[in-house]
Amino acid sequence: MHELAITEGLVDAVTERLPGQRVTCVRLEIGALSGVVADSVRFCFDLVTEGTDLDGAALEISQSPAFCRCRVCGGDFEPDGPLVLCPCGSAEVTVLTGQDLKITSVQVA
Ligand SMILES: [Zn+2]
Repeated sequence: MHELAITEGLVDAVTERLPGQRVTCVRLEIGALSGVVADSVRFCFDLVTEGTDLDGAALEISQSPAFCRCRVCGGDFEPDGPLVLCPCGSAEVTVLTGQDLKITSVQVA
């Protein structure tokens, strides 16, 4: 379950950046191709934040769409699943966006 390690990393990043501040809300953006399951992050968040400055903070997750560029036909397309395949049939694609997971904002009390 790699979401646990990811969530720990996020919580560490927030507490390092905002030491001693009471965090009330964390907003996350998860790319469609990041392989991270939002529900798992939510579950881990409650465990990881217990006893930290983020204890009881709300977690808002939004999914950001992925975009890929085909190296054969040059077209950009939005993959509709974990299988990245251009409408032209090529799997020779470069992922432009959608593999990242980032904190978009943090609210403090
Ligand atoms: Zn193509």
